[in-house]
Amino acid sequence: MSLRERGYAGRITLLGAEGRAPYDRPPLSKKVLTEGIVPALKADFGALDVEFRPETEAVSLDVSSRVVMTVNGTKTNHEKYPFDGLVIATGATPVALPGPGRQRFLRTYDDALALRGLLRPGLRLAVAGAGWIGAELATAAAAAGAEVTVVEAGPTPLAAVFGNQIGSLFAPWYAEAGVSLRTDVRVASVEAGGLALVGGGWLPADEVVTAVGVRPAVGWLAGSGLLLDNGVAVDEGLRASLPGVAEPPGIFAVGDCASFPSGLFGTRMRVEHWDTAVHAPGVVAANILGGSEVYDPVPYFWSEQFGRMVQYVGRHGPDDRLLWRGDPAEPRWTACWLADGGRLTALLTVGRPRDMAQARKLIAARAAPDPARLADPGIPVKNALA
Ligand SMILES: Cc1cc2nc3c(=O)[nH]c(=O)nc-3n(C[C@H](O)[C@H](O)[C@H](O)COP(=O)(O)OP(=O)(O)OC[C@H]3O[C@@H](n4cnc5c(N)ncnc54)[C@H](O)[C@@H]3O)c2cc1C
Repeated sequence: MSLRERGYAGRITLLGAEGRAPYDRPPLSKKVLTEGIVPALKADFGALDVEFRPETEAVSLDVSSRVVMTVNGTKTNHEKYPFDGLVIATGATPVALPGPGRQRFLRTYDDALALRGLLRPGLRLAVAGAGWIGAELATAAAAAGAEVTVVEAGPTPLAAVFGNQIGSLFAPWYAEAGVSLRTDVRVASVEAGGLALVGGGWLPADEVVTAVGVRPAVGWLAGSGLLLDNGVAVDEGLRASLPGVAEPPGIFAVGDCASFPSGLFGTRMRVEHWDTAVHAPGVVAANILGGSEVYDPVPYFWSEQFGRMVQYVGRHGPDDRLLWRGDPAEPRWTACWLADGGRLTALLTVGRPRDMAQARKLIAARAAPDPARLADPGIPVKNALA
């Protein structure tokens, strides 16, 4: 779509492993589960003159002959797709747990439909992982009357991302919703009828959903020679590279499968957020058409869980200072992170979207707000500068 918007008139072929046209994933763990809504189709390929090939999985890339090899859904038909330019947008794949039992995931529309069909009062549902997807699924499943147990390896939900202090604020939401949260519990294996836990425990379950994170879906690029580092390692213009080859190969990567150098945060990052999947393709399209645009966003993510809107903007490092904006004991709260030198690097908020929107601008401007003013929820974030 971005290419056509910028006037590209050449041929575009879109290869997709799924049997469906592209759709938005955020509703899958929200209204698709609770209300069965169909996520919006992202584009009208006929009107855009895009040749869309569903159930066509890229299995290898030959950079020197500029060909993508594919296999169809039934693995019976292999095809070759020659290209002048290639955009890799293969997203991410959920991590599976060991064990022979059936584990479900929540990544695709079909996954969400299957889960929606299962949710019923009394269903004993075990969810492995109290991350974003686990929390949203638990919200929907509990609302449907299921008996939900979430097992989490860390000491609190999202401890690895935000630390224990913030993570402990998420924990009571589970109990309020009637969800049993068991922290510091590791799954040893998924078995028929439940989860075997490290240390010998057993959690009986009718269904198990594994929500312990995703990995960039770049296995098919092994052997291509493309530089891979936590996904396809692209430059600031989202161009992939071949180590030792000076001339850029005309191959780009974007979305969950790509790691890019962030000028703003001074680190390479891979962002598994909808906002990146929506905005980065414009940069790719501009650069395919000869531009030199740079992708350097303030990452943004939201989650709707247990009746709350949680929003995180920016990226904080392990040494950044946590600053509370107001009282975290209130139902709506905001946490900020300041780097050495006082620059605002990230903000997490529950129920205060204005804080998020204003912080995003300060983070983009590399601003160093006055900590006392930032800590005062009576002062708008945008007015917190010294
Ligand atoms: C349930 C769920 C809820 C989410 N909620 C939120 C939210 O609330 N807020 C937020 O910011 N983000 C959310 N996200 C994250 C967001 O949806 C992703 O960041 C976004 O979908 C990434 O887009 P993408 O195009 O990079 O990858 P994907 O959306 O994963 O698309 C990649 C596509 O490539 C296909 N593919 C993979 N390998 C191949 C291959 N070899 N050949 C051909 N095709 C292939 C896949 O089948 C898939 O269709 C959520 C994600 C999920 C799963």
